[in-house]
Amino acid sequence: MRCEICGKKIVEKPIKTKIEGSIMLTCKDCSKFGKVQREPPKPKRPGAAKGIRRQYKPIEPVYEVLENYNEIIRMAREKKRWSREELGEKIYEKASVVSRIESAKMVPDIKLAKKFERILKVELLEKTSDVTQEDTGPSNVKGTTIGDIARIKRH
Ligand SMILES: [Zn+2]
Repeated sequence: MRCEICGKKIVEKPIKTKIEGSIMLTCKDCSKFGKVQREPPKPKRPGAAKGIRRQYKPIEPVYEVLENYNEIIRMAREKKRWSREELGEKIYEKASVVSRIESAKMVPDIKLAKKFERILKVELLEKTSDVTQEDTGPSNVKGTTIGDIARIKRH
C-alpha cells in the first residue's frame, strides 16, 4: 500500500483523507493536507426499527361519536331533570355548548363526549380500531421479512 499523494510506502494503516472533495488513502504525513475521514457510521435501517417499535405499541382504540349523540344527551339529561345550565355546570361547559350539541349543531370531541358519558351514564362513543390496524399491518409484515432475511443470512 502506497500513499496516494507522496507515493511513500505506508507501513501502518493508510489514513482516509478528504482532499479537495475526493477521499484518498494517504500516509500520516499527507493526512495533514486534508480532512481525516472517520469510519462511516453504520447505516441505519429506520424502516426496520420502526417496524419493531410499532409491534410493541399497543393498539389504541379509535373512538367515534355516535350519530345520534344529540338525542342520547338530551334524553339522558331530561330523564335526570337537569336543565342545560345544570348539565353545563357539571361538565364545566357553557349552557350554550350543551344546547348546540343537543341540537346537533356541534359534535362534541372525544374528551367532551367522555364527560357526557360519565355524568349522564350513557354511551356516546363507539370504538373503532380499523385505522390503527391498517396502519400497523404492513409495517409488521415488513419487519418480519427483514428479520427473516437476517436469520437466513446468519445460518
Ligand atoms: Zn504521503
